Formats: sequence, structure tokens, C-alpha cells
Amino acid sequence: MRFNFSGGPGVLPETVLQQAQAAIANVPEVGLPLLGISHRSDWFAAVLAETEANIRALLDLPDDYHVLFLQGGASLQFSMIPMLLLRGRDKSADYLRTGYWSAKAIPEAAREGRVRVIWDGERAGFRRLPNDGELDCAADAAYLHYVSNETVEGLQFHRVIGRDDVPRVCDMSSDFLSAPCDAHRYALIYAHAQKNLGPAGATVVILRRDLLDDVPPDLHTSLDYRSHVKAKSIYNTPPVFALYVVMLVTRWLLRDIGGLSRMGEINAAKAARLYGAIDASDGFYRGHAAAPDRSTMNVVFNLGSPELEAEFLAHAQTAGFSGLAGHRSLGGIRASIYNAMTQDAVDALCEFMDDFRQR
Ligand code: PMP
Repeated sequence: MRFNFSGGPGVLPETVLQQAQAAIANVPEVGLPLLGISHRSDWFAAVLAETEANIRALLDLPDDYHVLFLQGGASLQFSMIPMLLLRGRDKSADYLRTGYWSAKAIPEAAREGRVRVIWDGERAGFRRLPNDGELDCAADAAYLHYVSNETVEGLQFHRVIGRDDVPRVCDMSSDFLSAPCDAHRYALIYAHAQKNLGPAGATVVILRRDLLDDVPPDLHTSLDYRSHVKAKSIYNTPPVFALYVVMLVTRWLLRDIGGLSRMGEINAAKAARLYGAIDASDGFYRGHAAAPDRSTMNVVFNLGSPELEAEFLAHAQTAGFSGLAGHRSLGGIRASIYNAMTQDAVDALCEFMDDFRQR
């Protein structure tokens, strides 16, 4: 088996994969293979109930939030959010443009209303994130949108930003449940599954109930969060398999890992090891992100030339390290070390990097 450093769909816990494999053949409580069980069965209702309860427990989520399981990936949230919060409003929304994914969200919001880009990292080559003094957050904004972890560039906010009196909306697709999170400080959090949660196909949306007090009247039913609240996330046929795996992963986080504080410590140790190897390489490996904004999930770096990077990737592939090519928009190398990536795998990669450099 290879070490899976893919940016996503990414590595999942070994025990979860084994349980999912067994369930594909047969779910004993139902006596059917997982891939043929109705989303309207009692069994699946229990799966969703446990997944929600696990997420609530992990995040210590107050009761005034809905937890929804939607489809359309994080990309559909780029549209559903401004449809709900910006359409027909006499306010503008504040967006941060910190990298590839936050940049994708902005044009979708602009279709629905006025958008202010309050910080644009392009001039800095998307190598760093703003400090609080550089952020001009409007007191009367409809909401503030940002991406907590830019998956492509490997930039991560290590703090909550924005004003407490403006709804905070955050795309946590690539660092959701990777460390403790003050969920109650956000009005809406969204994260697709295919990094830290499970297979692609499911997206978790956590939204404060009061956001649904004033919904534009002209939304399509399936693009209206209220439809999904009312139908308990089975308004239409959900990805039963993906959501079952999300349940297993949240159970693993609670029972095997022991919660988000411990998960955060494990992730910090893995990231420190890998950035340590980069920093100790005398410039042979060069980190993309400014040190204070380095991601604990996506470690992005370069070698001296594209040719050397190609050689590195070819050798890594032969040595059993998969998924290390940087995102197609950026090139270079990206080692994604999501929750399920083990310390042993990170150690092995660091040893490979040292060997490659010596050679
Ligand atoms: N946001 C972030 C931070 C991402 O990393 C990605 C995909 N990797 C997306 C949004 C888009 O997600 P999806 O493909 O589920 O629409």
C-alpha cells in the first residue's frame, strides 16, 4: 500500500476503511449491502442522527445551530450562501481573496449582490494571509466570507477573524475537525467531506438558526436550506455510502482519537516534522507559505526547478508516496497530511526527502 498524500479525496483512517468495506458486503442490522439500503430506512435515520450528534459533541455546538448534510460539494455553497444572505439585500458582503478557493467563491457571490473584496493576496503571490490591521471589515456587511485553510497554497488562519457583530461564514473544507474550533463564533460553517470526513459527495453545513428567519422568497426548493432542515437532510436522495463513512470518521475522532484537542496536537506534530525537514534543507526545499500562516493540513513547497520537482515526484512515486504533485494551478509539491495521515507516514516522507536531497 502507498502513503496517500493526495489533496483530496484524501487519506482516511485504516479502521474506517475496513468497516466501510465490511458494510459494502453486508450491514448486519439490516441484512443488506450498504450500497442498496434506502435513505428512508430507520437504519439510515440513525446513521444521520449519530453523525450529527458526533459533530455536535466534537464542536461543542450550541443548540441554536442546524447541522445539515447536503450535496453539490463546497462549490454549491459558494452560491447557496449569497442566495440566502445577499440576494435582494441593501448591503454588501465582505470577502477575503486569499487563494485559489476563496477566489472561486467571489464571482458566485457577485451574481447575487454587492461584494467587497477586503483583502487580496494575489500581489503577495498568495504566500501569506492578512493580519488583523490589514482587514477593513465593514460593520454593516451582510456577512464576512473566508476560507480557513487554502488547500492549494497551504495557507491557514490560526485564529478567528472578523467582527463579532457581522455574521462570519467560513469554508472549512480542508481543515474541518482537524483541531478545536470556536464554532459558536461562526454564523455558518461549511465543509465538503473529501478531506477530513470521508468520500466526496457529502457536504456538512452548520448554520445558526436565525439565518433562516429572513429568506428571499424566490429560491429554488433544493437551494433553500429550509427544505433540508425540514426534511432532515433527506429532501432528495443523499449519498448514503458517503454519509455512512462520515459517521464512522466522526466516531473514530471521538472514540479512537479522543476529540479535537488531541487531533489538533497530532496534526501540529506532523506539520512541525514536515516543515522542520523543509527548513533544515538549506534551501533545497522552499516552503510556499509565510511561516506564521503555514497550514497544518497542506504542506506546499518547491525545489530549485520544475525539472528537479518532476524528478522528485517520479522518485517519490516509486518509493510509495502518492499524491504529492502540487495543484494544477500552482505546480510544485504539496503533501496533504489530513487527520488520518499517520506520524509514521510523515516520518517516512521526511526521510525520503532527506535521502533525495543527499543524492
Ligand atoms: N473549498 C476548498 C477549501 C477546497 O479545498 C475545495 C476543493 N478541494 C473546494 C472548496 C471545492 O470543493 P468541491 O469540489 O466539493 O466543490
